[in-house]
Amino acid sequence: MHAIAVEPGAGEPRIVERPRPDPADGEALVRTLRVGVDGTDHEVIAGEHGEPPAGADRLVLGHEAVGVVADPNGTDLESGDVVVPTVRRPPNGTNEYFDRGEPDMAPAGAYHERGIVGADGFMAEYFTSPAEFLVELPRELAELGFLVEPISISEKALEHAFASRSAFEWEPDTAMVLGNGSLGLLTLAMFEHVLEIDRSYCLGRRDRPDPTVDIIDELGATYVDSRETPVDAVPDAYEGMDLIYEATGYAKHAFQTVEGLAPNGVGVLLGVPGAWEFEIDGGRLHEELVLHNKALLGTVNSHRGHFEAATDTLAQLPTWFTDELVTGVYDLESYERAFETGDEVIKTAVEFDSL
Ligand code: NAP
Ligand code: BGC
Ligand code: ZN
Repeated sequence: MHAIAVEPGAGEPRIVERPRPDPADGEALVRTLRVGVDGTDHEVIAGEHGEPPAGADRLVLGHEAVGVVADPNGTDLESGDVVVPTVRRPPNGTNEYFDRGEPDMAPAGAYHERGIVGADGFMAEYFTSPAEFLVELPRELAELGFLVEPISISEKALEHAFASRSAFEWEPDTAMVLGNGSLGLLTLAMFEHVLEIDRSYCLGRRDRPDPTVDIIDELGATYVDSRETPVDAVPDAYEGMDLIYEATGYAKHAFQTVEGLAPNGVGVLLGVPGAWEFEIDGGRLHEELVLHNKALLGTVNSHRGHFEAATDTLAQLPTWFTDELVTGVYDLESYERAFETGDEVIKTAVEFDSL
């Protein structure tokens, strides 16, 4: 079967031949429909994040997949079920994090991430997975099922943000997403359509006209250009934010977020930047966090419950939004286009097959 693999840091994704996998006990065989591409895939391709399976020089890409069960192999699934796989797998047998259903909280070494760290991904015509890591999706959502994984990332991030403010009366009226990439825009749509935030904002660094800024406008949010208004200047230029969701991977934003927050606000960091040394006023940030009861937290990955919540969220997103967000779905013959970048590209996917 065909798969899309990369030698991280040393080349472009290529089509490779792999044997169709046989499901082991407890696993189902899944026929892949579509697999999305995100910023992390580009970081993996560039060799900045992740690694191939032990002993391999190439990694099969893809962690945002949707497929259809081809062989349930004695599991509770049925042939034809549409499923989305979770990303993390235990490296050897299992461990306490997986046993608790919280693989997203496992430390490095206690997980592999399919398509990212230590395990081949889902960009192949078929893949196998233990049934416990396959989340069922209504058939009518199959075409957009590759958005469930990125939405699940925000389900977790927002759950942790709200949990950090759960000891007192806290209802966010203002919220800002940093970053107008696919993760940022999906989260902004959640602010508008699921959380029903009164006033939401999204930070970018693009001139109008731009397709991502059009989406921000159409969602009814306010576009903030970081070249004119850095994150720490947002309270003076607009208003303080009860919630800031960082999805730029721009390391200065982690610290500017503290000053962008309103009193009692929470900043949640998603980006995975490389090393970058710069000066910050640590005393001021420390004081700002303490005297205004602010919280700053990092979050990665998501568990099955977040995937289930994400399927509900996906169903609530308006069609105009997903139509504008998904700028390209490419079959295997033109798979390279799914990895192109540029201001006109927002979210892409590779299509392996249809229902
Ligand atoms: P992406 O497509 O690269 O989006 C990042 C966006 O941030 C881009 O639109 C970029 O604008 C914008 N940006 C970067 N620096 C900026 C600045 N200084 N001011 C204003 N805008 C800026 O990536 P993505 O797929 O949406 O993911 C976002 C980040 O989250 C990445 O760092 C990714 O690694 C991370 N991530 C983390 C998790 C997790 O579990 N923690 C999960 C998924 C993704 P331009 O396009 O104009 O450059
Ligand atoms: C994936 C997560 C993963 C993270 C770090 C993200 O793009 O969506 O599942 O944990 O990268 O590797
Ligand atoms: Zn991702």
